[in-house]
Amino acid sequence: MDLTELYQDLILDHGKKPRNFGICPSSNHDAKGHNPLCGDNIHVYLNLDNDHKVKDISFEGSGCAISVASSSIMTEIVKGKTEKQARELLDSFFKMIKEGQEIKRAGLTEDEHIKFSSLAGVGRFPMRVKCATLCWHTLRAAFDNDKQPINSEKID
Ligand code: ZN
Repeated sequence: MDLTELYQDLILDHGKKPRNFGICPSSNHDAKGHNPLCGDNIHVYLNLDNDHKVKDISFEGSGCAISVASSSIMTEIVKGKTEKQARELLDSFFKMIKEGQEIKRAGLTEDEHIKFSSLAGVGRFPMRVKCATLCWHTLRAAFDNDKQPINSEKID
């Protein structure tokens, strides 16, 4: 199986069976995001401990397969990371999608790196970029405790 196929399978699998889906009962940070271009809605729940580590993370919402898969993959990768690491991943994700920059392995397991990279191809479809980035923008708002819902039409 080549990498493109592997990536497609990963996205399909996460789109159909999202991980960490539902309200996280212990959450102490949350934020909402909306992508009007596609109709994607997401609510991200975070449990940040006193050391700024993501103890738990989940998401709820509805949207296209790309937005659901991206959210599912994001929660799996961010869980257990520090807020600082998660914010670095967030920047890497935007650079990967928008500038085609490859993701560094640093701090990621091989499995996480593959999952993270699986969404790189979305960058070739400008209409879908906002579907893939919505959850990461919403994650940032959750860290910032920003109660204003994210509207992807108003951000790059
Ligand atoms: Zn979408």
